[in-house]
Amino acid sequence: MSPHILVLGGTAEARRLAADLVTRPGIRVTTSLAGRVSTPGAVEGDVRIGGFGGAAGLAEWLRAHRVDALVDATHPFAESITANAAEAASVTGLPLLVLRRPGWQRGPEDRWHPVPSLDAAADLLPRLGHRVFLTTGRLGLAAFAHLTDLHFVVRSVDPPEPPMPRDTEVLLARGPFTVTAEKALLRVHRIDVLVTKDSGGNATAAKLTAARELALPVVVVRRPPLPRGVDAVPDVAGVVDRLGLSGA
Ligand code: NAP
Repeated sequence: MSPHILVLGGTAEARRLAADLVTRPGIRVTTSLAGRVSTPGAVEGDVRIGGFGGAAGLAEWLRAHRVDALVDATHPFAESITANAAEAASVTGLPLLVLRRPGWQRGPEDRWHPVPSLDAAADLLPRLGHRVFLTTGRLGLAAFAHLTDLHFVVRSVDPPEPPMPRDTEVLLARGPFTVTAEKALLRVHRIDVLVTKDSGGNATAAKLTAARELALPVVVVRRPPLPRGVDAVPDVAGVVDRLGLSGA
């Protein structure tokens, strides 16, 4: 029977991985999406949507659907599903590979303020500026809701829901973004500080270049660590190689 690979998705890398795997003879690929965004990008191969019900539910799904290998290609900040994947792989004995794009690298002219969490970002913000460009995702706005003296410009794919800061302007958009457009946005909204997660990747990196060129401070939320013993590769080629499919 064809080897069945489950890709935990929700990222551009996961889409690229599925697009690669479907071209390999004899491989069956299923991508799993959480169902958070209303119009997810097109994914090749089979797709399933919605939570599994924790690590136990994922392990059950892996068994029931006769999965041979699990690839966690979720976002670097999707901490729960990554922990569940590690636990489910451990109880089922299946191989697990984590696809994690590298974090962004700080340059000498960057005015970055690394922090360990969204709460720490909120603590620091009032000392850095008053007009904030917040790009940490619509689900993390509660951490900033008490900052009633600051003006927030929030960018997200789908409209955010409360709790969120009182003075919030929402921009609905999906990357990739260009440096020129990001600089224009920062100027038009008179932004004096930017907040981002260290998501890495090219699609949303332009805001960092724009902030550097405008000499703006950037609060950068550091990534959560990977579960102990988990094996990570930085790109699709690394996954294909580690699955032993390079020549397939
Ligand atoms: P999370 O906190 O790690 O996951 C919360 C719960 O959502 C998980 O326990 C799981 O539910 C379900 N889930 C998450 N990813 C799933 C997937 N790919 N397939 C099936 N169920 C999934 O995740 P999150 O931060 O809310 O992110 C949700 C999704 O959005 C992820 O797939 C991620 O790749 C994508 N994403 C996240 C971010 C971010 O900044 N966090 C940014 C861009 C894209 P059960 O326990 O019921 O299985």
